[in-house]
Amino acid sequence: MNQYLVDFNFPFLKLGLLFLLYAETHYSFKGIYSRLKKKEPEIIADVPHRIKQGQPIPVLLLIKDADQHSIELNSVHINLFSKEKKECFPFEFNALKITEKFWHKTVEIQSTDNLSGKYRIDVTIKFSINGKKREVKNDNYTCSSHAPLEIYISESGLPKTNGWHFGEFHCHTSYTDDQVEFGAPLNASRQLAEAMGLTFFCATDHSYDLDDDPDNYLKNDPSLKKWHSFQDDVRRLNQSNSSFIIIPGEEVSVGNSKNRNVHFLVLNHPELLPGDGDSAEKWLRTKPNLSIKEILRRINSNSLAFAAHPGVQPPFLEWLLVRRGKWNLQDCSNSGLHGLQIWNGTDEGLNEGKSLWIKRLLQGKRIFISGGNDAHGNFNRFRQVGLPFFTLRENYEHLFGKVRTGVFLEDKLSLPTLLKAFENGRMLITNGPFVELLVKNNRNESAKSGDCISGKNFKIDLNCLSSPEFGKLSELRIYTGNLITRKEQLFKSVLNFSELFKHHEELNMRKNSTPSYLRVELFSENKNEVLKCFTNPIWLNWTLG
Ligand SMILES: [Zn+2]
Ligand SMILES: [Zn+2]
Repeated sequence: MNQYLVDFNFPFLKLGLLFLLYAETHYSFKGIYSRLKKKEPEIIADVPHRIKQGQPIPVLLLIKDADQHSIELNSVHINLFSKEKKECFPFEFNALKITEKFWHKTVEIQSTDNLSGKYRIDVTIKFSINGKKREVKNDNYTCSSHAPLEIYISESGLPKTNGWHFGEFHCHTSYTDDQVEFGAPLNASRQLAEAMGLTFFCATDHSYDLDDDPDNYLKNDPSLKKWHSFQDDVRRLNQSNSSFIIIPGEEVSVGNSKNRNVHFLVLNHPELLPGDGDSAEKWLRTKPNLSIKEILRRINSNSLAFAAHPGVQPPFLEWLLVRRGKWNLQDCSNSGLHGLQIWNGTDEGLNEGKSLWIKRLLQGKRIFISGGNDAHGNFNRFRQVGLPFFTLRENYEHLFGKVRTGVFLEDKLSLPTLLKAFENGRMLITNGPFVELLVKNNRNESAKSGDCISGKNFKIDLNCLSSPEFGKLSELRIYTGNLITRKEQLFKSVLNFSELFKHHEELNMRKNSTPSYLRVELFSENKNEVLKCFTNPIWLNWTLG
């Protein structure tokens, strides 16, 4: 590394770390001016991106770092706009003194009309700081658009049949709090997730954030206070509400076969698994702590391990400066790996992740896919610190609950039933349509995604659903994977559907003798967007006679 890089790459290191987050703007590097830094706490309003008609809309107010810059909150005015009219919802706070590091409150608004479709929401926050009156709209970032928040009010719930639950498989909460990012508190995340129609999320904060000193994210805490309070918070919240489950997890930084840092989602593990190779907390120390193999050896039978965003190529600077790498086929071939979180909020890396998965399926491995968004808060809009501390990027990607993992539960929703269903692959991933794959054999026994079934012949049942929110059904693809020739092929494609948002497909499979698997993809079209649903496979074992 030449002198120029050594001199300059600490800030550039951070430049490489463009995470997905509510942007933290108070951190700046010695000698580097931050245009975003100001003498005010960060103030953010957020709402779910979708909600079912007739429900109140929760509006999350977040105020961060008021311990350094205290304020008096005077009022919050929320405007809900439709084409025809504007409804205003005022909330008085009467000069409420806010001095906490992390203050948040959710207020609810509900229209007098039965709304449906897309709506805009503006949140005006009036406060005083050092005796001066200030007013901000939607957030107080220096370089953001302050554009209205957007919500889709849906006449119908998420498309599904009985027994299916939807959730977010990869997200960060306020336990992620470092130089450039922070997430929303667990209880606020739960409230907004519930309003979206979800019934679970996996809280997968970074290993290198969970081991921090609660008061200083640049220092580690050997007594792991933050980790313990995270576990306690999740437990307490799960005890207080049986209709929504938070799965305690961790996004562990581990070494892949090339000794580069990759991310591993470990769910329900009773101890913190260390991993700070790519934390950028220790200058020039980027070596992974544990390897993928070591993690798989350490976790117990109640824990699950999924490769996080395996197909996503790390940006060049992250590759260079914090030794970030990518899951390759060898990494995905470790025994004990339960699955691959191949969808990470955008299409980036989705095809690569899917192709790694199919390669493993064709090698005869029973391995499953899940999908999430890697959201850090960001229920409505993604706000990110860009070219360090000079810009703030905004877009509508990596939104909490946009890509969902659907899970089939035979029993009541609970932490153990969810974990069991993940382990058994009773899952699908979708950002819109829904397809239930069922197979029956000649003895009338039935199988769902993730199951294996034996028989002389099989009947396949497919229930396809969409809704005006996710657009009309456009294509159904049924794939079979031959485990002898190790080839996957398109068995059938359906382009004509009985109804716009509903279709039932039935087909018979006979006279095959090779062990194989069956999986399904369903697409819908909404304006110019193609939305998709991928099921996990059912394995077919042909018996003779
Ligand atoms: Zn990650
Ligand atoms: Zn993540």
